[in-house]
Amino acid sequence: MSSGEPTSAESVADRSRPVVVCYEVDQLPAVDSALMGNVRRSLVKTDEVLVPPRDARTFTVSAGQYFRITGVDGPQVGDLNLWNARDLTERFFSGKTRQLHATHVSTGDRLWSSLPGLRPMATITHDTLGWYGWDEDGGGIHDVIGTRCDPYTNHMLKGVDYHYCCHSNLTRALAAGTGMSLAEAELHVHDVLNVFMCTGFTADTHQYFMKASPVRPGDFIEFVADIDLLGALSACPGGDCSASHSDDATTCYPLLVEIFDAPDLPESWAPTVRSGYRGGHGLQA
Ligand SMILES: [Zn+2]
Repeated sequence: MSSGEPTSAESVADRSRPVVVCYEVDQLPAVDSALMGNVRRSLVKTDEVLVPPRDARTFTVSAGQYFRITGVDGPQVGDLNLWNARDLTERFFSGKTRQLHATHVSTGDRLWSSLPGLRPMATITHDTLGWYGWDEDGGGIHDVIGTRCDPYTNHMLKGVDYHYCCHSNLTRALAAGTGMSLAEAELHVHDVLNVFMCTGFTADTHQYFMKASPVRPGDFIEFVADIDLLGALSACPGGDCSASHSDDATTCYPLLVEIFDAPDLPESWAPTVRSGYRGGHGLQA
């Protein structure tokens, strides 16, 4: 019979049960190492988009093209949204990406799409901040644990309206890039990859923290598009996220998005396909 709290010996035993990694990531589809090696050495730039501070821009990348996000002028973090360019209901799924890879992503990790698609949308082929690893606070770079700064949370906590949070920036950019109304576009904005942001959870209370990003001008993160993509990138009003966000207090800088053709892409390379699960959910075969 259960009788309330465990004894101290029982609680020690309960807490020392072995950790089991939830997903067998060894079984994820393998990434061709040539994509991170020879192929990226012969990229041919075809386009670029400069994202102004406290604002966002959209960009398109065809399957098999590469795209690179580069810090310019000063330390700046970015909030990235990705959609299937042909079907905006399939979009970046930060939660599943976190479960399949880790709280922070780097070279060789993939950005996965929402259910029912659940496929890699983009694969990280290079990360000049890969050297950072994990710092003494448990912080890392490029997280998939935060969401995006937004005017609703800001209003709740501070009682003021601020219109240049990443959520609003992404909404404006998507509306401008697609012709949707603001209201329609807002529903497509989703949890982000926090590009260049240094974050973690505090050791004592396990709260989400940020600290100054180590990104310097010229640092970049690079991806190959696994499907045709529509992207949107916001240059966060938090700047390097060393102090505050959701206000005009911090110095902010632009971010550069560059698109490249990859003439040496292996002939065996193909866009990723949607999940093979047929969607019966127990009611249909
Ligand atoms: Zn932001």
